[in-house]
Amino acid sequence: MNQQVALITGASRGIGRAVAAELARAGFSVAVNYLRHPREALDLAAALTAEGRRAAAFPADVADRSQVEAMVRDVESQLGPVEVLVNNAGISAQGLFQDMADEEWERMLAVNLTGARNACLAVLPHMLHEKRGCIVNMASIWGLRGASCEVAYACTKSAVVGLTRSLALELAPSGIRVNAVAPGCIETDMLRSLDEKTRDMLAEETPLGRLGTPEEVAHAVAFLVSDRASFLTGQVLTADGGFTV
Ligand code: NAP
Repeated sequence: MNQQVALITGASRGIGRAVAAELARAGFSVAVNYLRHPREALDLAAALTAEGRRAAAFPADVADRSQVEAMVRDVESQLGPVEVLVNNAGISAQGLFQDMADEEWERMLAVNLTGARNACLAVLPHMLHEKRGCIVNMASIWGLRGASCEVAYACTKSAVVGLTRSLALELAPSGIRVNAVAPGCIETDMLRSLDEKTRDMLAEETPLGRLGTPEEVAHAVAFLVSDRASFLTGQVLTADGGFTV
C-alpha cells in the first residue's frame, strides 16, 4: 500500500475535502488542513481513520508562513514527511474592482497566492533532499480567461498558473512535478455564495449543462499526483464541463 503523505490545504470543506478523501482511499496518508472549520476537518479525519485509512487534521492559516511551517513540522512528526502537496485553500469575493478595500485585496493575495508559496517553501526541503515530490495547485477557469467583478480573485488564480509553470521548470531537474487543476463552476460553499439565478446561469453556460462536483475535481488531482502522470509537469488540467472550450 502507498504510504506517501499528502498534505491538502483547505480540506475541511468543498474541493479540498473531496481531494483528501480520494487520496486517502488511494492509499495516501492524508493531512487535512483547515482554518475556521475544525469540526468538519476532525470529522473527516475520523471518518477516514474509521475506514482504515491514515488521516489527521492540522490547523493553519496558509497566509501565515510561521503557522504553515509549524503545521508541516506537525504533519512530519505525526504522519511522516510530505511528498504530495495540494495547494487548495482559497477564498473568493465578488464586487467592482474599485470597491474592494485594500485589506480585502491583500487578504486575497495572501491566501490564494502567498498561501501556496508558504506551503511550497515548507515542504520543499524534504522533496529536494529526496529528489522527488509532487505539487498540485488549485487554479480556476477565471484565472485563465478573466472574470468581471472578481478581478482580485482572477488575478490570484492567474498568478497560481504562473507559479505552477515557473516552479515546474525550476524543480524539474530535482525530480519534482508541479501541475495545476483549473476547475470550472463546482458545487461548493464558495459557489453557493452566489445567488441562485447566477448559479443557474453558470450551469446553463457550461456545455455539459450542469455544475461540477468536488469529487470530479478530486479525480483530476488524483490523476496528477499518480504515477500515471509521471511525464506531466507545468500543466493546467481544466475540469470545467467544457466551459472554456
Ligand atoms: P470552499 O467550499 O469555500 O472551501 C474553502 C476551503 O479553503 C475550506 O476548507 C477553508 O477552510 C479553506 N481555507 C480558506 N482560507 C484558508 C486559509 N487562509 N488557510 C487555510 N485554509 C483556508 O471553496 P472550494 O469551492 O472548495 O474551493 C477550493 C479551491 O478551489 C479554492 O482555491 C478555489 O479558489 C478553487 N476553485 C473553486 C471553484 C468553485 O467553483 N467552487 C472554481 C474554481 C476554483 P475552513 O473552512 O476550515 O476555514
